[in-house]
Amino acid sequence: MQAEGFPRRETTMSDKRKIHDDSGQGLNRRQTLECMAWAGAGLVWTLNGGVPSAKLIGAAEAATASFSFAQISDSHIGFNKPANPNPNVTLSEAIARIGGLPNKPAFMIHTGDITHLSKPKEFDDADQLIGAAKLDVHYVPGEHDVIDENNGEAYLARYGRLSQGKGWYSFDHGGAHFIGLVNVHDLKAGGMGNLGAEQLTWLAADVEGKSASTPIVVFAHLPLWTIAPEWGWGTQDSAQALKLLARFGSVTVLNGHIHQIAQKIEGNMTFHTARSTAFPQPAPGAAPAPGPQLVPAEQLRSYLGLSSVRIARGKGPLAIVDSTLAG
Ligand SMILES: [Zn+2]
Repeated sequence: MQAEGFPRRETTMSDKRKIHDDSGQGLNRRQTLECMAWAGAGLVWTLNGGVPSAKLIGAAEAATASFSFAQISDSHIGFNKPANPNPNVTLSEAIARIGGLPNKPAFMIHTGDITHLSKPKEFDDADQLIGAAKLDVHYVPGEHDVIDENNGEAYLARYGRLSQGKGWYSFDHGGAHFIGLVNVHDLKAGGMGNLGAEQLTWLAADVEGKSASTPIVVFAHLPLWTIAPEWGWGTQDSAQALKLLARFGSVTVLNGHIHQIAQKIEGNMTFHTARSTAFPQPAPGAAPAPGPQLVPAEQLRSYLGLSSVRIARGKGPLAIVDSTLAG
């Protein structure tokens, strides 16, 4: 966001790459906007008066925003392959960008794969690096955060104090209701994520009785919309969760895992995935399989960074301003 000192790159529909809608879910293409943009790693969301804003971003509007929050994702601390031999450094750079925002975010969310192998030292390093932002951080686990010998107990011991079940929870801020979901347990190789009956039951109770005008922000690691089923980039029972949220006037779904920005607006729901702070992954269909994408070292930071995003209410398009660690 230029107003917050970032180099800006406004993403227009003309420079977004289309993702094929081959999910077979019967979406009306004319009502469904799908696009993919190629820059940025963290996200800064701004809500005006508790309502996600669709207006173009500028200094005047930034000054009237009631609060913003930052999203980072997929820091993969512990990863050491050529795609990024030292993700500690790039996470640190992303945190420094957030710390330097003139309009201080109210908090951060981390949408999972904090670590690469769920090791205590990886969690410790991540905590230390992210702690430099001096912001409250709301986490959800990625599948890389629950591969300790006790299937996620290490994550829960560290971050799950106030959560339910395997780590899901909700909180309110500035008139908006935030819901952190967990969809990374019991994954089958190449399979999609799942929420499970227990979590869906909790979600139904969590939103019951809330006014339809309450802005809802959902965050989870694996996308809650089907981006590439052959790569497991979706959540098999996400439709049941989204159905529980369908009556709300503004629902924003924030995910990670795919290490690139993809977005979709469908009715009152806006879906968005964040870039990684560690390394890129190929676009769906651009490689035989998902995984770390090796780019020339001098280009890596142009795939990582921060994005400022304002979200549309209703059917308006997303307005996205991305900035990279290279900028
Ligand atoms: Zn992941």
